Amino acid sequence: MSDTSFNCVSVSRKALQSNYKFIESRVAPGVKVMAMVKADAYGHDMVLTARALEDVGCTVFGVAELCEAVILRKSGIKGQIFVMLGFDPENAAIFVEHDLTPAIFSSRAATALSRAAVAAGKQVEVHVKVDTGMGRLGVMPRDLVGFVKELDTLPGISVQGVMSHFPESDVPDSSSTRDGFSTFEQACSLLAGRENFVRHIANSGAVLNFPDTNCDMVRAGISLYGYHPFGKQPENGSDGNRLIPAMTFSTQIIQVKDLPKGAGISYGHTYRAERDMRIAVLPVGYEDGFSRILSNQGEVLIHGRKVPVRGRICMNICMVEITGIDGVQVGDEAVLLGRQGDAVITADDIAEKTGSISYEVLCLFGNNNKRVHRE
Ligand SMILES: *Cc1c(COP(=O)(O)O)cnc(C)c1O
Repeated sequence: MSDTSFNCVSVSRKALQSNYKFIESRVAPGVKVMAMVKADAYGHDMVLTARALEDVGCTVFGVAELCEAVILRKSGIKGQIFVMLGFDPENAAIFVEHDLTPAIFSSRAATALSRAAVAAGKQVEVHVKVDTGMGRLGVMPRDLVGFVKELDTLPGISVQGVMSHFPESDVPDSSSTRDGFSTFEQACSLLAGRENFVRHIANSGAVLNFPDTNCDMVRAGISLYGYHPFGKQPENGSDGNRLIPAMTFSTQIIQVKDLPKGAGISYGHTYRAERDMRIAVLPVGYEDGFSRILSNQGEVLIHGRKVPVRGRICMNICMVEITGIDGVQVGDEAVLLGRQGDAVITADDIAEKTGSISYEVLCLFGNNNKRVHRE
């Protein structure tokens, strides 16, 4: 995106830092907080986010793929960088070169990494991924000990931790979280006695709902960006309100005009003016992450008020009704996500309408628009 786009995603560095501090305050002393910055930090800009968090003491970062980790390292991030999805064995040397830490779940990858580490004269720390009920990545619990023993025989790599992931920790009291955690604890107990061994399973939901699962490290994602994994922020006064949404997405009105009663608006004329109405045309559409599902459903903030989307959202354009709001002009700001005056639209509000979750809304806005960090 060029600097001259109408659309801008702005990220509050202070909010990111405050959310990190909040998560840190929720875990026991000595428990590390890994900042999950995959997907370009859920749309918040991976490098700028990692720097902002490094400045408040974060020393561990997590990404999905090797390519993301390399970018982080090359941009000067010093901390430990975890790669959750492992790597193609052909790229093992890149892992070693950049001192990255993989989640390991296959012998093939481990063998390749061992060779590359020996060739470079380095010792690489690896964490074994075990599947305790997510039904996703990882070795099955019954295979864990055998797999770790196999890794122990490989020169150049050392198993320094075991990790797993919860499928339902966003649901307070979910029994699968309890079950998964006891499976994890049992699996880890078979590896007892190893030195400096790091166990980690908790994501944001577990930090907030299941503090006894925090183990030696937690992996926080959505909470760092100011959202609760279970949707709506809890009512006032609860801890949840200490998370501050970091992202704002705004644009500018490019035309204001009056349409007569009965006029069709946008493709397919799925909306017809119910009265003489004034509309504002916005240069934002599904290409910018404003989902087409929000056609005739979405809302934006103009002059501190919520106004409705009328008609279908196009690729780069949509229309909103501003009848009755005086003085709206071309160039005025429209906020799609965030606050304007007293009015607020959160990623949860949008997700509720699109049948999704805040995570996806943040990724779509953040990764499809020009971004700046403020403060
Ligand atoms: C993304 C991710 C997390 C963070 O989850 P949140 O719900 O955003 O806190 C933790 N662990 C793994 C393996 C992940 O992929």
